[in-house]
Amino acid sequence: GAGQHHAEIVVLGSGPGGYTAAFRAADLGKSVILIERNPTLGGVCLNVGCIPSKALLHAAKVITEAEEMGAQGISFAKPRVDLDALRGWKDGVVSQLTGGLDGLARARKVKVVRGTGTFSGPNMIAVSGGEDGDTTVSFDQCIIAAGSEPVELPFIPHDDPRVMDSTGALELAEIPKRMLVLGGGIIGLEMACVYDALGAKITVVEFMDQLMPGADKDMVRPLQKRIEGRYEKILLKTKVTAMEAQKKGLKVTFEDDKGGVSTDVFDRVLVSVGRRPNGKLINAGAAGVAVDERGFIAVDRQQRTGVPHIFAIGDVVGQPMLAHKAVHEGKVAAEVAAGHKRAFDAQVIPSVAYTDPEVAWVGLTETEAKTRGIKVEKGVFPWAASGRSLSNGRSEGMTKLLFDPEDDRVVGAAIVGTNAGDLIAEAALAIEMGADAVDLGHTIHPHPTLSETLNFAAEMFEGTITDLM
Ligand code: FAD
Repeated sequence: GAGQHHAEIVVLGSGPGGYTAAFRAADLGKSVILIERNPTLGGVCLNVGCIPSKALLHAAKVITEAEEMGAQGISFAKPRVDLDALRGWKDGVVSQLTGGLDGLARARKVKVVRGTGTFSGPNMIAVSGGEDGDTTVSFDQCIIAAGSEPVELPFIPHDDPRVMDSTGALELAEIPKRMLVLGGGIIGLEMACVYDALGAKITVVEFMDQLMPGADKDMVRPLQKRIEGRYEKILLKTKVTAMEAQKKGLKVTFEDDKGGVSTDVFDRVLVSVGRRPNGKLINAGAAGVAVDERGFIAVDRQQRTGVPHIFAIGDVVGQPMLAHKAVHEGKVAAEVAAGHKRAFDAQVIPSVAYTDPEVAWVGLTETEAKTRGIKVEKGVFPWAASGRSLSNGRSEGMTKLLFDPEDDRVVGAAIVGTNAGDLIAEAALAIEMGADAVDLGHTIHPHPTLSETLNFAAEMFEGTITDLM
């Protein structure tokens, strides 16, 4: 037929996992085809995830910092928000990056086939709905990187334009007067942060007893305290049981853990209750690849599925659904497919919420250590004693290091405060290298920086801290 392609390695999906795998395989001398249904490369992360959210969070940070400069004797006028210009700027950042990927693919002779790919056999994918018409792509080896999509809830009118998922929220159609964020996880709280800064009154509802379940409670508390002061309401241990689209707004029914029922009406609702893998959408069975009932594809340490010439990476293989995990797995899969000895052997994967303040953690949390019965000791440094943090006009941060009591090695870390996401990388390195408290405590950190708080937390644990600030 007219449209038939073959490559040694075919990558299905061009998110951070997929493009990384495709580029690495091409760099190792393989002929590579990348299949993508979207008009642009980059997947969720570049188009509707990490990057546009961080662009908007930057704007949010500038707005709130300007507002709070009053305490330092500087005041600005209330910001005038040109939503079209802000959206245009954000879209520009995204298209610069997705366009860059086109160039990187061309430079490596990675052929991009556009359309939705579904397996039609163990060495064949049928591609349809793309601009080049229907086609087939055969392969020697395949890397599945089909990613994930937002979870929808059955009792929510998702077809009402006032009900948004994260993609809708990033479109920035308007700034609602009152907005409900349904789900107090990382994505929901990041978008809450953006809309709060832009002037919306925010309510967050979370089923669990803390925001950002997964992080230690004490590390979320500074964030919670700050947003309690800014947002309209934070409802914990509360679930949404019904939502009705009315002319005046979205009428939402809440039920708390004691059975108390209440209703409220919002101009918009962001549903951020998690993401589900796209494994069920690719007809993986035709290739003999098993997909579990939730849509995940199981892989071994070499990222191989049960079918030895088919690999899978990124959100579609499991938690945590994070871009840096997908990238790492993409490299492993490409290198193994190209005949190299490689396996996924990272000990830890950092998690970051780019809220204000940021919350970041890596390795064991205290909660996890407790539930798994692992003994840990800790060193905690409150940023109220950090000269740099106070100079930045902020005092609520905290750095916590967890140590193995046997050998004082770092086994976990959590940081809440401005730039926590950047700071957590040092702790990840410490864990990967088997660093102990003395390594962190005796490494000279630049003064005055927030990075010193890791140094101080280690010294707190060692009992060798002398003067703070
Ligand atoms: P995806 O990025 O999901 O890409 C999969 C690609 O495959 C898509 O382009 C899709 O169109 C394509 N595809 C799927 N099926 C087919 C098919 N059948 N045929 C053709 N193409 C197909 N992670 C972080 O690490 N840091 C962050 O700050 C961060 N922020 C986020 C903010 C938001 C709002 C969201 C929603 C997510 C965020 N994430 C973040 C998560 C991150 O985006 C994902 O973990 C990451 O994109 C997963 O990469 P992936 O390669 O597995 O798949």
